[in-house]
Amino acid sequence: MKKLDSKKLCKIYVSNKYELFYDLAYNLAEFAYSMDEVPVGAVIIKDDTHEVLSSSYNQMKSNKSSLDHAEILALRLAMSRLKNERLNGCTMISTLEPCPMCAQAISFARLSNIVFSAEDVKSGGVLNGPKIYESSSCHHKPNVIRFDDNHKSRKLLQKFFESKRKKG
Ligand SMILES: [Zn+2]
Repeated sequence: MKKLDSKKLCKIYVSNKYELFYDLAYNLAEFAYSMDEVPVGAVIIKDDTHEVLSSSYNQMKSNKSSLDHAEILALRLAMSRLKNERLNGCTMISTLEPCPMCAQAISFARLSNIVFSAEDVKSGGVLNGPKIYESSSCHHKPNVIRFDDNHKSRKLLQKFFESKRKKG
């Protein structure tokens, strides 16, 4: 893994070793798209065994819950599967920079790493907005790892929001 910026409190790395899991997350984002949900997918794996603990996609509309982002749902599933509110030694792979709510939830859950491809300049909470992991009130800072997906998930999100605008 290559370190990008050591001066920041939150360490940012670049790695594509999560390709297999990223593909799963992306497939879930595509499924969310087909369900007319904002296309985001997230997968949680155990670092030592690479076992997939949980996977989910954005389900705000179908669950009538503005909290049901892909990351929150994947966290809940992984915690109940491990019967543990802490997910040390686990990594989340997501197709989008987590929002402030999800970034904070990832910290509460003590995840070791958060991997994501698309940056969310408007609503992200890791590299943008409140930069949750650089806040003094954040007591667990996961490693932040960028995954280069050749803008695949950003294009899917753009396609989704363009189709919404056309429908007006
Ligand atoms: Zn979120």
